[in-house]
Amino acid sequence: MPDKNKKPKEIEDLPGVGEAIAEKLREAGYIDIMSLAVASPKDVADAAEIGENVAAKIIINARKAADIGNFESGDEILEKRKVIKRLTTGSKALDELLGGGVETAAITEFFGEFASGKTQIMHQLSVNATLPYDKGGLEGHTLFIDTENTFRPERIVQMAKALGLDPMETLKKIHVARAYNSSHQILLVEKAYELTEKYPVRLLIVDSLTAHFRAEYTGRGTLAERQQLLNKHMHDLLRFGDIYNAAIAVTNQVAARPDVFFGDPTTSVGGNIVGHASTYRVYLRKSKGGKRIARLIDSPHLPEGEVIINVTENGITDA
Ligand code: ADP
Ligand code: MG
Repeated sequence: MPDKNKKPKEIEDLPGVGEAIAEKLREAGYIDIMSLAVASPKDVADAAEIGENVAAKIIINARKAADIGNFESGDEILEKRKVIKRLTTGSKALDELLGGGVETAAITEFFGEFASGKTQIMHQLSVNATLPYDKGGLEGHTLFIDTENTFRPERIVQMAKALGLDPMETLKKIHVARAYNSSHQILLVEKAYELTEKYPVRLLIVDSLTAHFRAEYTGRGTLAERQQLLNKHMHDLLRFGDIYNAAIAVTNQVAARPDVFFGDPTTSVGGNIVGHASTYRVYLRKSKGGKRIARLIDSPHLPEGEVIINVTENGITDA
């Protein structure tokens, strides 16, 4: 029996959570009280095979135990944001555009047409995440969810060598999971919680975030369903980033629109959901040679702007 005067520490200490429910919740990735506190009743109900009302009560108890759910004042948020770290992209110009690099506890979306450099940037971020903080790294491991089979260890080796890192040691810190369809992709984020028990995961990559969803949910009838699932997926990712102070980087392929200088390039894929849940959005387009133009869009506190980066054998660099 849980001791009423003791603050719950494990999920089974929560009123309403017995052994059987705790086991189902763990399997679904709810491994600690915080993960339950920020969950939705529907997700918890589905995971534990219980009613939504019961799930809602469990969540309320988790919130009480986790000391969340209160309003925070601006100065408290400022204090919390001090733990936020920045991961270098390899290009000083792109880092500056992002306010110092790819932010932890946030989603950064790189979108652009085919071969615009999205996957190259994902490889570079995975390598850079292993660097010490004073070199722009996160001193951590990466979980790389690969939906298009474009992860290349050879590319990691090239980039690691260019930074003077041990290629094999670097590869050991990048955990790659192929996602075969959109449900599998969603499930892999839950598995990410298990990986954190073994490794200090500080970067979670989904390359590509949208490809499976786009391929599977075609036609008008399924659009709402697709957006709903994508929305849930984005929130799962953000929750992981929040709990582990990890950076979340995702890619999204969009069709080129040579007819407009710059419109909303995501309208054609109905990608509004992705745009709303992403904290930072970088639009990539090809320029001459290995050069790419990166443009920051809709950032909550940074001005829009454009920089040029270079994709070379050594990885992402300034142009
Ligand atoms: P996408 O946006 O479709 O994910 P990629 O990130 O795969 O595109 O970019 C592919 C481009 O990256 C290639 O067209 C090439 O310009 C560049 N690239 C890939 N590998 C190398 C390399 N080893 N050296 C230099 N450039 C490379
Ligand atoms: Mg790619």
